[in-house]
Amino acid sequence: MKVGCMLALLALSLAPMPTHAIEATQGDVLALPIQQSKQQPDLFCLQRHWPVLPAGKGRWRGWLGIDLRTPPATYTCHWRSDHRQWDTKLTVHAGHFRISRITVRKAMAEFDPATLSRIRREVRALKQCYGMHVPSRPDQIRMQLPVQGIESTPFGARRFVNGVERSPHSGIDIAAPLGTPVHAPLGGKILYVANMYLNGNTVVIGHGLGLVSVLSHMSQVKVRTGDWVRTGDIVGTVGQTGRATGPHLHWSVRFRHARVNPHSLLPERALAGEENLP
Ligand SMILES: [Zn+2]
Repeated sequence: MKVGCMLALLALSLAPMPTHAIEATQGDVLALPIQQSKQQPDLFCLQRHWPVLPAGKGRWRGWLGIDLRTPPATYTCHWRSDHRQWDTKLTVHAGHFRISRITVRKAMAEFDPATLSRIRREVRALKQCYGMHVPSRPDQIRMQLPVQGIESTPFGARRFVNGVERSPHSGIDIAAPLGTPVHAPLGGKILYVANMYLNGNTVVIGHGLGLVSVLSHMSQVKVRTGDWVRTGDIVGTVGQTGRATGPHLHWSVRFRHARVNPHSLLPERALAGEENLP
């Protein structure tokens, strides 16, 4: 064997990442595997750092979320570990999102200045939760459905309220009978409890690692800000508070601020990118 060839093989065996590009769709949560690294590597992609968790025997797995509105393109993710750096190409495809039209009473579509400032204040409070540090980390990233029911509005739907286009649907709506218990999709700390003008009775759970769940339109809330909950604990009941046309739970998930599809965290669907795991 020629020296050049041996060197090439050696370089290959040290390469900590597969070189193929990762394919994803807007809203996906991805698990990126790394073969071997003594140190915990750092992953920087789409202008943010992402959690890297042990995957056994010196292996690691990087987790990242593709925001709903990430422009379709090929991006470069940067890894750094053991004094080495390498890249992974990430191709983001456009999601195929449904169009949803609802008709509500005027007070829920056109706002007077006082209501508008209340809505803005509430949106700011919600946004603050997405960046809050939670002093715990989940042992796994997967979640469970907070309530069984019928998915009435899917993730990413383009929404028209009384004929006017609004921001896209950043979560999923699950229609269920009034009073059905709502469970924590994953354990964590209650970061915010409020009766919001549009979202109605809302509970925000910080799960750690920058994962945050928002549960809205509840009839009753059973937790307080600062409480800790475990996966499956009851946090409230299904309702129709705020801007809702029927009893349902709105569940959205932020992952380091990215609006991700809750379905990509549920066990019944293999996580996007999981087929790439070693
Ligand atoms: Zn919703």
